[in-house]
Amino acid sequence: ARGYFYRSNGRQIDKELGAKVWALFKEIEAEVETGHPWPNEGDKTLFTMRDYYVVRLQENLKKFPAAERTDIIAIFNCCSNYLRFHWGVEIANIPLELCSMAPEIEGGDVLIPRGTRSLVNAIISRFRCEERLNIEKQATSISWGDDLVEIRCSSGDIYRAKCVVVTVSLGYLKEHHRNLFQPSLPHEKIEAIHGLDFGLVDKIFLHYDRPFWSSEVGFGSVKLAWDDDEAVITDPKSQWYKRIFSFDDVYFNPSCLCVWISCNEAYHMEHLSEEDISETCTGLLRQFLGDPSIPKPSKVIWSTWGTNQHTLGSYSCPRMQSDASHFSSLAEPLTDSNGRLRVLFAGEATHTMYHSTMHGARESGVREATRLLQNFGVDTSTHQTS
Ligand SMILES: Cc1cc2nc3c(=O)[nH]c(=O)nc-3n(C[C@H](O)[C@H](O)[C@H](O)COP(=O)(O)OP(=O)(O)OC[C@H]3O[C@@H](n4cnc5c(N)ncnc54)[C@H](O)[C@@H]3O)c2cc1C
Repeated sequence: ARGYFYRSNGRQIDKELGAKVWALFKEIEAEVETGHPWPNEGDKTLFTMRDYYVVRLQENLKKFPAAERTDIIAIFNCCSNYLRFHWGVEIANIPLELCSMAPEIEGGDVLIPRGTRSLVNAIISRFRCEERLNIEKQATSISWGDDLVEIRCSSGDIYRAKCVVVTVSLGYLKEHHRNLFQPSLPHEKIEAIHGLDFGLVDKIFLHYDRPFWSSEVGFGSVKLAWDDDEAVITDPKSQWYKRIFSFDDVYFNPSCLCVWISCNEAYHMEHLSEEDISETCTGLLRQFLGDPSIPKPSKVIWSTWGTNQHTLGSYSCPRMQSDASHFSSLAEPLTDSNGRLRVLFAGEATHTMYHSTMHGARESGVREATRLLQNFGVDTSTHQTS
């Protein structure tokens, strides 16, 4: 892992031990993602991701000297927050059985220096379609019949088309599908919408006038390893900060730190003032780095994916009520009484393998574009999809 683990008493956990335990954690993560032996006999559908990590941690703990075990448990508490931000939800609510449906793609992370907006801009300029783009318009109803689809917007604009591809988030569908679609969605689609979870992950950016760390060395990543008793959250509203995984330095911005936070606690964070967030984050840095002189940031900005009315969360995730078929049910297009395609669905939550990711969202768009081209008799073998 980039950076190091720190305990709440301001002590840095031995670097070698930290690296060893992180490697063990990543091994277990790979087991979860690629299929795994069941912890014991019984109903497989009842095992959660958390159960699996607890069992594997207990098995491995015995292999370490007793003096290191409290540190190892603290690192695993930190890793639990890593998993929560990776999946966007409480790991005790994720069925182990469905975890292997979402493997990591090879090749590691790709950094987009000018942000994801630059990807959209590149597509716009490549296809010279700016004049046909209508952004900042909220669709309030999508009605379809045997002739066409009609989309009404809050601006009063009405668009009519043969087909429509809907890519609103699963969070938006959960909240609005009843009013959005006329006629209403089929039963299987509604079941899938409610059967899947839509998690929450946020980023907090702490901007400093000057980095308080040495810019040559960089800041790396400070990972918060709470003790077992401290890690328990009794009141998510006041203890939101316990869902923070790490404080990381930011590529291309040398005087900024990025804080990762997830789940219900991120939702509470979104409602706080800049001063509250600044104070709590500074308190945590001072406590875990054991340095009371760490300054407050000059500015704090944070994402609000949970309260943003057009996302209502960050990305999809299976939950205990989920069925493996829910992702594909979401992708199923709706046809009119003549069997003609009318309403199609794309977006990360419609991808059976790479849901919750940008590549999943992109592939789902390519899938539906291909479906439309084939529907209109275009030879898709000559169309480039990459
Ligand atoms: C903090 C964070 C970090 C992430 N990190 C990564 C990462 O490192 N790698 C990765 O692969 N993925 C990452 N993701 C996930 C990735 O961003 C999403 O999976 C992806 O953006 C989903 O794309 P989408 O098109 O399905 O949905 P969205 O990007 O949510 O697009 C849906 C669009 O629909 C619009 N909309 C909603 N309602 C309406 C309406 N009524 N009318 C008109 N428009 C509407 C919304 O405004 C939005 O623009 C991250 C997500 C978050 C929140």
